[in-house]
Amino acid sequence: MLPESIPKTVTSYIDAAWVTPAGHDTLPVIFAANEQQISEVAEANAAEVHRAVASAKTAFETGVWSRASVATRKSVLLKVSELILANRDRLAELEVAHTGAPLAQAYGRHIPRAAANFEFFAEYIAQASNPVFEQNPDYLTYVRRDPAGVAGLIAPWNAPLALASMKVAGAIAFGNSCVLKPSELTPLSFVPFMELLSEAGVPPGVVNMVNGRGPVTGAALVAHPDVDVVAFTGGTSTGRLIGAEAGRGIKKVVTELGGKSANIIFADADFERALDAALVAIFSNNGQQCLAGSRILLQREIAEKFVAAFVARVKRLRLGDPYDPKTEIGALISAAQMERVLEYARQAADTEGVEILAGGKRSELFDKGFFVEPTVVTAASNALPVCQEEIFGPFATILTFDTEDEAYAIANDSEFGLVAYVWSQNIARVMRATDALRAGMVWVNTPLTRDLHAPFGGYKHSGVGRDGGDWSRALFTEEKTVTVAARDFAIAQLGKG
Ligand code: NAD
Repeated sequence: MLPESIPKTVTSYIDAAWVTPAGHDTLPVIFAANEQQISEVAEANAAEVHRAVASAKTAFETGVWSRASVATRKSVLLKVSELILANRDRLAELEVAHTGAPLAQAYGRHIPRAAANFEFFAEYIAQASNPVFEQNPDYLTYVRRDPAGVAGLIAPWNAPLALASMKVAGAIAFGNSCVLKPSELTPLSFVPFMELLSEAGVPPGVVNMVNGRGPVTGAALVAHPDVDVVAFTGGTSTGRLIGAEAGRGIKKVVTELGGKSANIIFADADFERALDAALVAIFSNNGQQCLAGSRILLQREIAEKFVAAFVARVKRLRLGDPYDPKTEIGALISAAQMERVLEYARQAADTEGVEILAGGKRSELFDKGFFVEPTVVTAASNALPVCQEEIFGPFATILTFDTEDEAYAIANDSEFGLVAYVWSQNIARVMRATDALRAGMVWVNTPLTRDLHAPFGGYKHSGVGRDGGDWSRALFTEEKTVTVAARDFAIAQLGKG
């Protein structure tokens, strides 16, 4: 059941106050499970984005946060983390209201992750240090890190709070001010989120939020001359535009983009664990995840048995009301996303070399809602669109291979390079796989894992740059190398004849 209280209109949050953009367009927010409008967004235009950036810049220049002690920032970040957990019910119910994804995902993964993001960066800044170079006895050279300035943070709809809060936590941990633009489809949970940042003690102007469509609000944010650094998570085609615009403005930028990750299962894998994990990797969050294991590569010896077991489990996935805690697959985010997934299914039905083993159609269980049956296809060639294109839904494509080299060649034959999953109990094979695979993360004998200390990001068209620990610090700080004379060494005597 939808929560009783849903924000009626989501406006902008500037200087710790809700403000309605002048002369704004209004965008609907839809509950994907019944197709009803449940709220609306007051879209921020370029003038409104300017107000938000100006607020961030002023806050930055006062030093109220940018020069606050690490101890102060750490305690505020820990308080944010605590408040997220204390408000987890409210945040989770709003996440479900705007995504249509199962409550179990919001409650079990995304809200704890949002809290963990703040806790992680609180602890990180308390421990971080910078290098000192003393190889030359004449000088002491050391590195300082200053906050980069104003950060423009652009987030997608698939895990709204978990992904946006990673950017906010990273930006403010290092002393930056920021302007966040969530996806226009998923603004609701950001209303309590912004308020709890203020409650935790984040000073006004340090975190601002604008809402609206990418080409309107997002583009104005990226192009704004006072935005110093851009962190973007979203689709590859948008990433291209954002990278180009950031390049024009000589801004620091990280882009975390799409994926078509290979889940390679060798004959010597622990069969049952690999089966459980393959389901998790492609069907959690309705398959709407950049890191989804959407291409399952099976070694021929186990392919038949694995496919039979996998399809049997897929047919038993519980599709339904996203508020039912037992639901495993909810509704897709929008009519457009549902159409996109169904179009791939229609294409698959018409393509030689592709066979649909489960799903492939809109669910008949519901009159309303963007429900698609979890879908499994086999593909005869990795060149087919179902193997090359990111579908971003509950849609698994299965391929078969004979040799190890063939598996790596198929996995790497992709414009993307976000994750590669490997299942094998042979350590030598695992080591060869981690060597051969061209992906930002290689997950061995495990489904989705994220250690916030480690870099996260992709090769190739899955993005440029990384976030996590030191890599977030590199994005959100400017390095300043300071060199101090350590003794009175000889200086050339110019002009003395
Ligand atoms: P999207 O690219 O359509 O939108 C992402 C964000 O960018 C939204 O806030 C949108 O409003 C904004 N935007 C769109 N056009 C813009 C423009 N011209 N200028 C500035 N901002 C603009 O992506 P989406 O549909 O929201 O999310 C799904 C995509 O995100 C998938 O491709 C998925 O793989 C990717 N994703 C990647 C990661 C990762 O870490 N690599 C994580 C989650 C999702």
